[in-house]
Amino acid sequence: MAELNPFKIAQAQLAEAAEKLNLDDATHDFLRWPQREFRVTIPVKMDDGSTKVFHGYRVQYNSSRGPTKGGLRWHPDETIDTVRALAAWMTWKTAVVDIPLGGGKGGVTCNPKELSATEQERLARGYIRAVGNHLGVHKDCPAPDVYTTPQIMAWMMDEYENMVKVSHPGMITGKPLPLGGSEGRHDATARGGVYTVREACKKFNLDPATATYAVQGFGNAGQYGATLHKEILGGGKLIAVSDSRGGVINKDGIDPHDIVKYKLETGAVKDYPGSEPISNEDLLELDVDILYPSALENVITDQNADKIKAKISCELANGPTTPEADVILHKNGCHVIPDFLANAGGVTVSYFEQVQNTYNYYWTLDDVYKQLDEKMTKAYHAVYDMYKEHDVHMRLAAYMVSIQRVAEACKLRGWI
Ligand code: NAD
Repeated sequence: MAELNPFKIAQAQLAEAAEKLNLDDATHDFLRWPQREFRVTIPVKMDDGSTKVFHGYRVQYNSSRGPTKGGLRWHPDETIDTVRALAAWMTWKTAVVDIPLGGGKGGVTCNPKELSATEQERLARGYIRAVGNHLGVHKDCPAPDVYTTPQIMAWMMDEYENMVKVSHPGMITGKPLPLGGSEGRHDATARGGVYTVREACKKFNLDPATATYAVQGFGNAGQYGATLHKEILGGGKLIAVSDSRGGVINKDGIDPHDIVKYKLETGAVKDYPGSEPISNEDLLELDVDILYPSALENVITDQNADKIKAKISCELANGPTTPEADVILHKNGCHVIPDFLANAGGVTVSYFEQVQNTYNYYWTLDDVYKQLDEKMTKAYHAVYDMYKEHDVHMRLAAYMVSIQRVAEACKLRGWI
């Protein structure tokens, strides 16, 4: 049966890259585990006067390349193993884009939809009181993730500053703009992905301005992916789009801005004027040049990988392709830009936010775009070169680039 524990999956992915890199046993063993992890209990006074105890986590996976960084999830299914896996993936993500940070992640097991705003605020402040001593711009820096918002980041920053008694906006990112957030954070994930598609098109002599593309998942990542493809790459023909309520196709092309407007107005893409319906499964198998999986994990598996016709798959979503499917796509010549490279634009702009907070000087939107483009372009080429040199699939190549960088930092510090 396929392994479902995310931390075991993360360890298996590390093992494959370690073997290819001939990594020594001690370094491999060190990188299999988080350096530090905190489990905390957070008592919260509820609006009805009762007290509820929540369980929280913070995992600092590896700080060899810099302070750890990674989001905070508030989710009912949060466990220490999901947080560990996500912290490991953040370590490889910050390394692949070569920003001077390590990887971390945190979470609270809770259902925020059942909490009022005041209860959320008390939970946010309680979490910081519990782990705040171990956070900071030079230690570990959280950010928003599933069900955490800029407002929650703002409460957390305020509580932290209450503790340390100095202004310290860089201790957390994803803040609202008036409290030191960065321009360009809202579309950074998709923007970074589109920059990597531009570079991949050059490698495969594909003209992105005339290429066809399809987008699965039409939330933050998918909507910006669809519109930025057109804006940044000078055109392209969007053929199909889907969300959880189904998909639509129009072989003559769909205007990406117009369908975003339609989705915002109606809440779904279905029945978009001039289109035909298409299922989420069929959308993946369309004969398009570029596919943007931007919804869920495990949508491209050994069951459908052989039917994927796209030349490039840019994974804005986390984990859309299973390990078995990776091998099939590689064999069939589909060029996958793996998730932790393709969607690293978000953490890159979070890093820019920290830099601006530390400088106490804020960049223009154009500055952010230019710096993001440089980082993503360089990261894509580092992975592509590894892929060519070792004739491995792109995900393994991305792991190899990251793990090599983290291992080198550990060695230089004399840890191994
Ligand atoms: P979102 O909640 O804004 O959007 C998710 C979209 O997926 C929605 O349109 C939803 O209708 C659609 N969806 C849900 N189930 C579906 C299904 N079965 N088939 C097709 N579509 C379905 O989320 P998001 O922020 O856009 O994140 C999407 C993916 O991108 C996730 O894997 C997330 O981890 C990843 N990601 C996002 C960011 C970011 O900055 N937003 C950063 C890194 C990674």
